[in-house]
Amino acid sequence: MNLIEKLIGNFSRLPGVGKKSASRIVYYLLKTDQAYIQNLSKDLTELKRRISNCTKCGNYTETQPCGICSNHSREHTTLCVVEEPKDVLSIESINQYKGLYHVLMGVISPIDGVGPKDLRISSLLSRIHSEGIREIILATNPTLEGDTTALYIIDLLKKETDVSIARLALGLPVGGDLEYADKLTLARAFAGRNIV
Ligand code: ZN
Repeated sequence: MNLIEKLIGNFSRLPGVGKKSASRIVYYLLKTDQAYIQNLSKDLTELKRRISNCTKCGNYTETQPCGICSNHSREHTTLCVVEEPKDVLSIESINQYKGLYHVLMGVISPIDGVGPKDLRISSLLSRIHSEGIREIILATNPTLEGDTTALYIIDLLKKETDVSIARLALGLPVGGDLEYADKLTLARAFAGRNIV
């Protein structure tokens, strides 16, 4: 396998990139200037070295704690619970939510062997107690796994805490993903969140 074929193979492993897009990327890179490629490969090399999970919320960050957790102008008594770090980016993009986050790092999915213990649920409980959290907004995806996870957490929080709990209003398409919801839909879901 030559270098071009090898790179096409590697790029086609990326989410949303098929073989056709992968070859387009490689041929584009062959034509582009050397400085761009050098910067790109330097950033790629540093990605895993410099980025880690925030010890508080779990979001990807270059500093500990992350910029959101250490921002004093944010509401430190509200946590928005999301499945993955990329969901933080989606919600931040609507510029409406001013609280903090808690990233679960997945969803309950018996088929994939993922149970509550595999997620950051116990750290959610300890944050609620130690940080004086008063409101939880559940923003898991409107999928079977997302709903199962939300219901599990609601049940647990009602037993173990006295926080107020809200869920994003289901204007979101069922089976969809926060990442793909447009900003208006997401903003509406936030504005119309339901207390549970
Ligand atoms: Zn954080």
